[in-house]
Amino acid sequence: MRAIIYYDVEDFRVENVPTPKIGAEEILVKVRACGVCSTDLFRAIYHAAKPGSVLGHEIAGDVAEVGSGVTRFKAGDRVAVLHRAPCGACYYCRHGQEPLCDQYRKAGIEPGGFAEYIRVAPALVQKVVIKIPDSMTYEEATMTEPTACSVRAATKSVIEPGDTILIIGGGPLGLLNAQVAKFMGASQVIVSDHHDYRVKIAESLGVDYAFNARKVNVEGKVRELTDNRGADLVIVAVASTEAVHQSLKMVRCGGRICLFGDFRDVPQPNLNIDPKIILRDNIKILGSWGCSPQDYHVAFNLIKMGRVKVGEMITHVFPMEKFTEALRVMAGKRCLRVVINPSG
Ligand SMILES: [Zn+2]
Ligand SMILES: [Zn+2]
Repeated sequence: MRAIIYYDVEDFRVENVPTPKIGAEEILVKVRACGVCSTDLFRAIYHAAKPGSVLGHEIAGDVAEVGSGVTRFKAGDRVAVLHRAPCGACYYCRHGQEPLCDQYRKAGIEPGGFAEYIRVAPALVQKVVIKIPDSMTYEEATMTEPTACSVRAATKSVIEPGDTILIIGGGPLGLLNAQVAKFMGASQVIVSDHHDYRVKIAESLGVDYAFNARKVNVEGKVRELTDNRGADLVIVAVASTEAVHQSLKMVRCGGRICLFGDFRDVPQPNLNIDPKIILRDNIKILGSWGCSPQDYHVAFNLIKMGRVKVGEMITHVFPMEKFTEALRVMAGKRCLRVVINPSG
């Protein structure tokens, strides 16, 4: 089969590799679409991937083959696949903190989503493979994983009906967070970004207020929209130290800040936080990374029922051979979700 092999910074090659063999409790999935995550982009441009590895984890495709012990799926089923599953039994799993589970931190697919076929491990087959209806495209189904991460952030941040929520960063994850927040009862969702292109898409997705922070004083706007209090919750959906500093100026006293952008990609975030503010203003800062199987199923239903609109967010689809071009498009920011079709 063909797969995109990482060699070095910006050096990806489409090569022939052996098609994975499956065990009795496993399935083989022919990948029809795999989203390019900003973490893939980061690894591609800067470092971080092991030479020889295959990236890609936002996956949808067709079941090509099932192991002898698998009864829930058959060849030909259209499915969305989450690339990892927690054990369900360890200390963290028992505390509802599945992303901290050791098993969760190991990928359960081989070799990776940017390949023609993937082997899906038993725990995943049991917990996080979902059949997708005819009404849902493969590209839309790839949005289940990022939506699930947003569902988790919203749940952990405890959104209350009537909340005003500010989302810093209008990329795909920012706009998924915005839609999930709206669904969970926020009365006002405000998105700030640095690109007019994304501000326009935010507006078209039903975000109440979207601002280009290079042109508009977002802090002033947030104050104006909240009787000068600040937002009940700020979700920082970019891995930017500056954005965290800003969030502290725009959250209300007693409010919450959720760090969501992936700071693993920022070697030295150099946060400069005055503890007095956290203490006296009763600010709660939390982090949300990853998702549980439950989040994945909730996200799937939100997409299926049209509560979270993902079709409009898919702006580019490329075949494997154009992966480098896909990365270039993503770096340019005139896009939202970019998807690779390994069967195209
Ligand atoms: Zn991702
Ligand atoms: Zn566990």
